[in-house]
Amino acid sequence: MENEDPFANALTQLASITDILSVDPEYYEMLKSPIREITVSLPLKLSNGNAVTFTGYRVQHNNARGPYKGGIRYHPGVTLSEVKALSMWMTWKSALIDIPFGGAKGGVSVDPKKLTMDELERLTRKYIDALEEEIGPEVDIPAPDLNTNPQTMAWIMNEYSRLKGHNVPAVVTGKPIELGGSEGRNAATGRGVAICVREAVQAFLKKDMKSVTVAVQGFGNVGSNTVKTLMEMGAKLVAISDVVGGAKAKSPSGTFEQSYERLIDESNKAGSISKISGVEEISNEEVLESDVDVLVPAALENQIIEANANKIKARLIVEAANGPTTPMADKILGRMEVNVIPDILANSGGVLVSYFEWVQNLNRDHWTEEIVNDRLESKMKKAFYDVLAYSQKNNVDVRRAALVLAVGRVVSAMKLSGWH
Ligand code: GLU
Repeated sequence: MENEDPFANALTQLASITDILSVDPEYYEMLKSPIREITVSLPLKLSNGNAVTFTGYRVQHNNARGPYKGGIRYHPGVTLSEVKALSMWMTWKSALIDIPFGGAKGGVSVDPKKLTMDELERLTRKYIDALEEEIGPEVDIPAPDLNTNPQTMAWIMNEYSRLKGHNVPAVVTGKPIELGGSEGRNAATGRGVAICVREAVQAFLKKDMKSVTVAVQGFGNVGSNTVKTLMEMGAKLVAISDVVGGAKAKSPSGTFEQSYERLIDESNKAGSISKISGVEEISNEEVLESDVDVLVPAALENQIIEANANKIKARLIVEAANGPTTPMADKILGRMEVNVIPDILANSGGVLVSYFEWVQNLNRDHWTEEIVNDRLESKMKKAFYDVLAYSQKNNVDVRRAALVLAVGRVVSAMKLSGWH
């Protein structure tokens, strides 16, 4: 039976590179366990008078290269194992895109759709009160993730600043622009994913973006901004899904022909992309198994697994989500010669622009969207081609190439600092 425990899978990935990158056992041991795992109880009085206690986590995996960095997710499926895996992936991601951060992740096991805005605000403030001593602009800097957004970050900044008695914008990234957020941050992850799709299409499929067909699983912040940028690049969007269901374009060209703005507008009105007019409603599995050139999983972990990997028809997978492919599925895809651009590379545009935001906050500066997007583009391309070059030179798949580069940088920082 396949292991779907995210942290076990993150450890399997780490183990998969030890034959290429020799890591001293003492450093390997340090990388295997996060430095700190924090679990907090968050009692909340609901508007209806009932009291519920939620569980929150913050896991700080490694800070050899700089302060801990990573988002906070609100989801009923959040577990300590998931947060641990995500924190480890953040360490690799920051190292790979080459920003001076370590890796962390936070989460609250809650269904945010069942809470009112006021309850969500109070829950967020409680979570920050519990973590006051553990976070800070030079310590650990949260950001958005699944079901958290600029408004959540605004509450975090305000609560932390209130506790400290002065304004501390650099404690959190992904803030609204009005409160010191960066231009381009909201779209950054999806934009970075689309840049990876474009470069990978050229490198592996030898195709022009205008002739490429794509399916995107997930239509949240990352999925929707990926779709937006891919449309701007001229790619043909064939299938898209959201939490409710999947949609296959039914136009004569077989692609979504409406503008991105209309797509968002129609799916908001219909309650789901799968319910808009001019589409065929399909299942989540069918979206993953679409007959397309490129598949972009932009939802959750464990979507491409042993059971469905051999049904994937795309020749290229670009991981917008964290951990969407299990190690077992990776092996199958490898045999099928499907190229996978791994999460730690493909979705690193988000944390990259978070870093830009942090730098702007510390310098009391504000960059234009053009500057942000230019810097995003050049950093993403550099990371992409560094990984590709390593992969081709050493004849290893792209995921392992990315991991070798990332883990190598972290180990080198640990060694230089004398972590033993
Ligand atoms: N949650 C995002 C990720 O998984 C962004 C993290 C950040 O900006 O710190 O990469």
